[in-house]
Amino acid sequence: MPSYPLRVLVLKTTKLGETDIIVTLLAVDGRQVRAVAKGMRKPTSRFASRLQPFSVVDLLLHTGRNLEIVSEAECVSTHSRLREDFDRSAAASVVANVLDKISLEGQVEERLFALADATLDSMETAPIDALPLLVVAFLVKAMAMHGYRPRLDTCVSCTCVVTDARTFSLDAGGVLCPDCDRAQPGALRMGPGTRDLLATLMMSTMADAAALDVPPDARIAAFSLMQAFVTYHLPTKLKALDFYSREICR
Ligand SMILES: [Zn+2]
Repeated sequence: MPSYPLRVLVLKTTKLGETDIIVTLLAVDGRQVRAVAKGMRKPTSRFASRLQPFSVVDLLLHTGRNLEIVSEAECVSTHSRLREDFDRSAAASVVANVLDKISLEGQVEERLFALADATLDSMETAPIDALPLLVVAFLVKAMAMHGYRPRLDTCVSCTCVVTDARTFSLDAGGVLCPDCDRAQPGALRMGPGTRDLLATLMMSTMADAAALDVPPDARIAAFSLMQAFVTYHLPTKLKALDFYSREICR
């Protein structure tokens, strides 16, 4: 059976039978791929150390009856610090969890892999305090790629320019001007500066986002808004995002 090479990011691993593992992967073109790594849970497995969550790996795959089958795995970037440190691991788990839910088999989105790789690179080296902002930056950018770009400059209802946005409509996906806010009670309150911070993160590289000097309560306000936005629009439970929220909002 012909094999083919594919660069992937490992999103998660799931046990299969006694010794095998199913790996859920984000391919370099943004598709989700699921593959079986046979014998990965045996002590002698050559895959066990290479197919860890957050690792970027060059695989040789062949097509099985139901799933792809891993025949070779060569590490490109282990991102090992993300597994060794609690805070880094919790932040990176949000990235893997969201990517698992927004990537689809057969759906190409080439920017997604580059975003994921850059985010994980930054999460490995950033100061611990910068991790929540990297999570927020990732969520804003990933949701935009997924078709949910938050509208931050003009009112999502009447399209007037909003300079000091204080409310955000989850349903419509953007800020509201004061007039539309009065007409649509129920929109989320935004703290001062949250809109500007999200707009900055939308345009920043991950390295720039890691270097921003933002007070803790402003980071948490931006995170809380994006958590609500993601939870509203993705019809699935995001365990890692819920866990991260409890950790940083303590
Ligand atoms: Zn309006």
